[in-house]
Amino acid sequence: MELPANRIENADVAELADALDSGSSGQIHKAVEVRFLSSALVFANLLVSCKRVRVVFQQHLYVLSISFAVLDPHSMPKDFLAETLPEYDVVVIGSGLAGMTSANILGRAGHRVLLLEQHYKLGGLATWFKRPGSHTFDISLHGFPYGMLKSCRRYWNEEIASNIVQLKNIRFDNPMFSLTTTFNREDFTRLLTERFKLDPASVAGFFDTARGMNFYDDQSMTTRELFEKFFPGREDVVRLLMEPITYANGSTLEDPAITYGIVFSNFMAKGVYIYEGGTDDLVSKMQKELTNNGVDYRIRCDVSKILVGPSGVQGVVVNDRQIKCRAVVSNSNLRSTIFQMVGEEHFDPQFIKDAAAVRLNNSSTQVYMALKPGCTVEESTGDLLFCSTADLFRTNLLLDRNITSRTFSFYYPRTRPTGKERFAIVSSTNANWSDWANLNEQEYEASKKDLVETTLDALEKYVPNCRDMIEHAEAATPRTFHHYTKHQLGASFGTKFEGLSVSRGLPQQIKGLYHAGSVGIIMSGWLGAINYGVIVSNEVDQMLSQTAPTIAL
Ligand SMILES: Cc1cc2nc3c(=O)[nH]c(=O)nc-3n(C[C@H](O)[C@H](O)[C@H](O)COP(=O)(O)OP(=O)(O)OC[C@H]3O[C@@H](n4cnc5c(N)ncnc54)[C@H](O)[C@@H]3O)c2cc1C
Repeated sequence: MELPANRIENADVAELADALDSGSSGQIHKAVEVRFLSSALVFANLLVSCKRVRVVFQQHLYVLSISFAVLDPHSMPKDFLAETLPEYDVVVIGSGLAGMTSANILGRAGHRVLLLEQHYKLGGLATWFKRPGSHTFDISLHGFPYGMLKSCRRYWNEEIASNIVQLKNIRFDNPMFSLTTTFNREDFTRLLTERFKLDPASVAGFFDTARGMNFYDDQSMTTRELFEKFFPGREDVVRLLMEPITYANGSTLEDPAITYGIVFSNFMAKGVYIYEGGTDDLVSKMQKELTNNGVDYRIRCDVSKILVGPSGVQGVVVNDRQIKCRAVVSNSNLRSTIFQMVGEEHFDPQFIKDAAAVRLNNSSTQVYMALKPGCTVEESTGDLLFCSTADLFRTNLLLDRNITSRTFSFYYPRTRPTGKERFAIVSSTNANWSDWANLNEQEYEASKKDLVETTLDALEKYVPNCRDMIEHAEAATPRTFHHYTKHQLGASFGTKFEGLSVSRGLPQQIKGLYHAGSVGIIMSGWLGAINYGVIVSNEVDQMLSQTAPTIAL
């Protein structure tokens, strides 16, 4: 995904296909330029690498044919801000699920909304990419709670909501236990009482306590203390209850118990759900809805500054141009919003102290694997498989570069019923930025290769002969997530808990300044991000309704 510009590989071809798919002509022109500059090197490669000749030649022809099809001197360079208004009611920075949801609600309410995304497609971490052979990989479509269906129905539309379906086979396999569950309260109660032999009253007490938790509760109790209270000394039970949630939002046993209780209960209400049709279908339907609601959305628009005057937010600087607005919703990383886009001089010193103390959540690595046409995986393999070779559940082991725990997501053809019949497998692992950030290019490539190889080794247990069946495999690292979303340290799940009050405190510091996006563990993940977008858009709507519609820059 982050290839040097002078190499033509599958990824380059697919990036072009991706760009064509998203209608992003800037991306295409940039890619085309790269292809021509790289021609000499490619043909030198041809001479020395006979084995690769046919594949590279075919790819090069494909690239050239796309290049000639799109090279129109009159359309270069494209102005991604062409025909924007000089002033909007609200500018939303970033098109993650929180940003898009805020924009959609505010557009629907009749406000003039400009949504600016620096990447060449909308979606943020809710994204996908394509590879030759009709393979499409989803990055973060692994599972979310049922609440997503209600939020999509209410704040997006019925068409989107109706594609949300339950995943029925959630598997665990580790040295302590192997089991399959529907991952809801009923099935977990059965497992905990019958298989783990726990007292039914303790199990019910635990579920009720978790269910009753909310943001205003005591925050001093940690998740470790919560488990210790109900299931003292039961490391196996902690593993069953905690491992999936750590994957879902990066929370640890030391985080406040409410960050666990709220998210766990959301899942336990009805199980794990997914969007049938794939992230590409979801985002394209969301784009249509944004258009219907009059939202002006732009890709390849990188906001460098949020302009603040004595009476609050005044506008933004994007692609070196100023655009006025009365409110800003930043869906960008919380710390980047405060320290880079606004500047600490605009905040109270105490607020800046609190903001500086906000810890980012961890990052991830992933390995994307596509099966050759005709190769299949038995559905009994599961939809989601939490597997680990570690004897005990330990958060630091989940993050360790020496990977022992992986979540495999299996995508059967039913995930994309309208496309060609394809099977894909994505392995996800929580990861530390520091393990990847300082590798030189050679070390980085070697580490990615090792990640792919060790993942295939691990997969062999569940999909025998997988190496023979897999047509394409590649890895993403914390650097990849940083590259595509600009999240500091490649954070996959925003910030730790303390980020929530800092995010919520922005409008008290600067009138018209809001943040909506993964923060505080609770507000992360697809559902958390969408719901936070809803909360913030309501506040922005109120603020806009109460203030005069003009701003002087
Ligand atoms: C590997 C992985 C697996 C995951 N799996 C799941 C899962 O199974 N279930 C689940 O619920 N969640 C999952 N998540 C988490 C989930 O994807 C995120 O929490 C959620 O999508 C974040 O949405 P967001 O609104 O916070 O914004 P993001 O998705 O973080 O988007 C922020 C957007 O802002 C843009 N931006 C940043 N700076 C600027 C700027 N200056 N100008 C313009 N645009 C800017 C970025 O390009 C990006 O598009 C996963 C995450 C990862 C990384």
